Amino acid sequence: MQISDRNGTVGFIGLGTMGREMALNLIKAGYAVRAYDVRKEAVEDLIPYGVRACEDLMDAARDADIVISMLPDTPQVEEVVYGEDGLLHSPPKGRLVVDMSTISPVAVRRMYADLKAAGIAFLDAPVSGGPVGAKNASLSIMIGGDRDAVLRAEPYFRAMGTTITHVGEAGSGQTVKLCNQLVCAINIQAICEALALGRASGVDLDKLRNVLLGGSAASWMLDKLGPAMIAGDASAGFRIDLMLKDLRLVQEQALSLSVPLPATALVTSQYIEARAHGEGSHGNQALFRVYDRMTNQTAA
Ligand code: NAD
Repeated sequence: MQISDRNGTVGFIGLGTMGREMALNLIKAGYAVRAYDVRKEAVEDLIPYGVRACEDLMDAARDADIVISMLPDTPQVEEVVYGEDGLLHSPPKGRLVVDMSTISPVAVRRMYADLKAAGIAFLDAPVSGGPVGAKNASLSIMIGGDRDAVLRAEPYFRAMGTTITHVGEAGSGQTVKLCNQLVCAINIQAICEALALGRASGVDLDKLRNVLLGGSAASWMLDKLGPAMIAGDASAGFRIDLMLKDLRLVQEQALSLSVPLPATALVTSQYIEARAHGEGSHGNQALFRVYDRMTNQTAA
């Protein structure tokens, strides 16, 4: 595949389930991508597509017009910003940093202020749409930060997503993402309950799902995760561990603002149960296995 840097150079940090596909879409859009991941094989895997493999963070950032990170959790993003060869000490030449991971809004506001004091613009731009949205460049991207930085980053966002929304000041992209996650988790829980009741009653679960999809109970989760739940296929997509991380962030924010979230608390317990039974690296559809255990039944 051809590399062109006519549109600018991206330093991309974190080539996991999501970041890999997002980096490839930036290449397809004509950007030069300099990539770094602590897993060397993740970087090397992208070399045939035109990605420049970097040995370390500094190498990826130095000549970049924008640095984009897609990392698991807050500590990894803080390491990238504050670490010994972090972006505070070796800023990209464009002095524009965009974190697209799902992390703490409180940490985001601190990073925004510290980077701004060093003359580096920072945006929080978490995403929704999963690995399929990442692959198809159809992510929904919710952005917190300064408008001029959003305008500079927008062409890059357009290479990765279709719904691009500047929701407000630094941290507000993460707040909207946390709202998104609580809706997703509670929805998965609702689907588990419906499938468990249907199964115990002897109803055909594929028919049950089709009926729900045709009416007012339809949802993205039922559409995309329902078949795997019914089949007992736990293969990863969005991992149970990552959702638990998001539910922790949701509850930290809710507690700090005294907002009661009883349904979120309940579904968090279900996720903890799933992880305790070794499901942490499985996809979110594995939440239904909690019901296998509670009802002593398994997938057909
Ligand atoms: P992932 O674990 O598959 O990928 C993370 C990558 O970051 C890994 O390749 C890991 O090696 C790398 N990494 C970790 N620490 C690093 C460091 N210090 N420097 C460089 N690389 C490092 O995770 P993912 O599924 O791609 O998710 C990434 C983020 O996006 C998470 O915050 C997640 O919550 C969020 N998210 C995921 C999905 C999804 O469906 N998977 C959807 C929306 C949002």
